[in-house]
Amino acid sequence: MIETSDFSFDDRIVTTQHIDEDTAIESGLRPTTLAEYIGQDKVKQNLAVYIQAAKQREGTLDHVLLYGPPGLGKTTLSGIIAKEMGVDLRITTGPAIERPGDLAALLTNLSPGDVLFIDEIHRLSRAVEEILYPALEDHAIDIIVGKGPSARSIRVDLPEFTLVGATTRAGQLSAPLRDRFGIVLRLELYTPEQLSDIVRRSAQILNIPCALDGALELARRSRGTPRIANRLLKRVRDFADVLGNGEINEVIARTALDRLEIDELGLDSNDRRMLDMIIQGYGGGPVGLETLASALGEEAVTLEDVCEPYLMQLGFLSRTPRGRCATQRAYAHLGYTWPGQGGDGGQLPLVGDP
Ligand code: ADP
Repeated sequence: MIETSDFSFDDRIVTTQHIDEDTAIESGLRPTTLAEYIGQDKVKQNLAVYIQAAKQREGTLDHVLLYGPPGLGKTTLSGIIAKEMGVDLRITTGPAIERPGDLAALLTNLSPGDVLFIDEIHRLSRAVEEILYPALEDHAIDIIVGKGPSARSIRVDLPEFTLVGATTRAGQLSAPLRDRFGIVLRLELYTPEQLSDIVRRSAQILNIPCALDGALELARRSRGTPRIANRLLKRVRDFADVLGNGEINEVIARTALDRLEIDELGLDSNDRRMLDMIIQGYGGGPVGLETLASALGEEAVTLEDVCEPYLMQLGFLSRTPRGRCATQRAYAHLGYTWPGQGGDGGQLPLVGDP
């Protein structure tokens, strides 16, 4: 029987979502140039060309859409774009721009060439999006002045600017908005080697002695995500100080991560419970995302953004038109016997279990 009561993503040390304790460490660790930004080679190479071309023309960089799971470096890249272009960066998020007037205020305060970064851009309201279209295309916005019959629309010119939009779900962006981005870049989960470089760079900045094998062990358990790698580094440092001589090596990293209940593949107890639910509760699947989410007492969006990208990268989860399925690898990792293709493992559905 699966306990759902203690299933919560809020206190997950391996959550990809930004949590309060990240703020202090992240500000000092963000790379500020493309050269310092580790991994995402295709994205970097293309951006370098677009940035150089815009600079040669003495123009503004085209609007950029960055998409991919949380914690992979989208905010960081927007800062790098602004720095490489030699302009200022303004940061906001989709949900923070509640009314069209909020966006108008932001846009009219931009200086020529500025980068405006809108995180979670898929959460902009329709009314706000409508203001954004002419701003992106014609560098102007239409403002309604007055009310009733005397109301009239006046056009306000804006300086040329670059919008950098970030989203975890490109599919939820409206087509007209998506079409207005000239540059669309997809960020991938990082390899353990790349994450190990990120850990060593962060350790150096934070003055934490960290051996190669220690960095790699941390990297292997960081779900392909720099935000988690940096967070784990901070936690493991405490174990190194108390249990060892302050240096993070493989043994310390392993001991610390085991104690934090993060397994050798970076799964925590909540990931394992999710897979358990699919396998034991739904015969390995397919099970619809909404059904799974309510069985676990979670939001479907959270499962989709936080758990699934990594479980899919590991090849533990497959998405079919009929729902989510646990794969043979997931069965093996959790110690279950694989029932074979199309089988249900002989398990009864959890629903209705005593
Ligand atoms: P996102 O906006 O995609 O959620 P962030 O840009 O906030 O992610 O990145 C989270 C943290 O991970 C940052 O503080 C940064 O230090 C680190 N980071 C992300 N990408 C890289 C990278 N390519 N190289 C080094 N550090 C990175």
